[in-house]
Amino acid sequence: MTTRSDKTRRQVLQSGLAVAGGIAAVGVSAQAQAQEKIAQNQVQYQETPKDGNKCDMCVNWQPPNACKIVAGTINPNGWCVAFAPKGS
Ligand code: SF4
Repeated sequence: MTTRSDKTRRQVLQSGLAVAGGIAAVGVSAQAQAQEKIAQNQVQYQETPKDGNKCDMCVNWQPPNACKIVAGTINPNGWCVAFAPKGS
């Protein structure tokens, strides 16, 4: 026999599983996005400016220490071959 409280408990469990599945999907999605960035060694990233150009002058710069396209911690005074000046 199914009582009213059994039905409610099952509904709560089912909705809990749906929420857990959603959280897992979001976690995988965030991880996939992080992996889409280029490794620092592939763009010859360095911790110092080059020819007066540096990360905080680049369109890909994301303060305080990240880049839209290059993975990892990025120094505002760094540089890489993907440098593209802001406003060009
Ligand atoms: S110079 Fe390279 S690492 Fe620095 S912000 Fe631009 S693209 Fe990113």
